[in-house]
Amino acid sequence: MDQLILTEGDARVSGQLRKLDARLPESGLADYRLRAGETGLALNARLGQRLRLHYAGAIHCVHCGRHTRKSFGQGYCYPCFSTLAQCDLCLVRPETCHYFQGTCREPEWGEQHCFRPHIVYLANASGLKVGITRASNTPTRWLDQGAIQALPILEVATRQQSGLVETLFKAHVSDRTNWRAMLKGEVEPLDLVAERDRLLAAVAPGLDALRATHGAEAIRALDTPGVVSIDYPVLSWPRKIQSFNFDKQALVEGTLTGIKGQYLMLDSGVINLRKFSGYQVTVEAA
Ligand SMILES: [Zn+2]
Repeated sequence: MDQLILTEGDARVSGQLRKLDARLPESGLADYRLRAGETGLALNARLGQRLRLHYAGAIHCVHCGRHTRKSFGQGYCYPCFSTLAQCDLCLVRPETCHYFQGTCREPEWGEQHCFRPHIVYLANASGLKVGITRASNTPTRWLDQGAIQALPILEVATRQQSGLVETLFKAHVSDRTNWRAMLKGEVEPLDLVAERDRLLAAVAPGLDALRATHGAEAIRALDTPGVVSIDYPVLSWPRKIQSFNFDKQALVEGTLTGIKGQYLMLDSGVINLRKFSGYQVTVEAA
């Protein structure tokens, strides 16, 4: 993506807000860019500086660009939200995939995105959790969740299978992140390798049953080099978490004290930028 990255001095970017762009360099410290329209702001370098985010009052669908009074599913207009496969309930509950019933909203999109290898992973964002993602979407997925550790454990052939496998794990481990705990930084490191071994033993009969249905090759254990550890650019953790909402307050202002997951932490409160994808904003740093 071509971006105008402003890193020194006063900076001002303006446009349609997108989810934070997060990368994980060799150092293990998450590197964030705020994206507004075609412009970007390197955020790590802004720690300790004043940020001012102003919502101009207009929302444009992240898919089709049309003006929408309200945002559906984190940035879509209602027509897109109700017709795109990527907005269907089966995306968050892949075990309910209905492609084979002939009712996929966009079969071609499904073929491109769901009939691809997915991984089942363990992560630690606010304690142990299980999750799934497209193999090509790591480590972004873990950064978006604010995970401090992650370990891929299984690779499966399709998204539906990842949902079926995740369902087995959910009997033993959460699939949720407590975002308040994640933002308070009170997360103890876990032995994910030991947790993996414990959980794989617990779900072994279920995995065997799935392999019997989908083929022995469809679900395979990953022999990964090890646990991915992630640090976040944070100067100080909030004690009490107050979250900003552009729908109630157009101006969000404060000193940037940290970035984790899709959240900016300011000394005045936190804001989940992903929630406001599609909102027309101006962001000034000084
Ligand atoms: Zn749309």
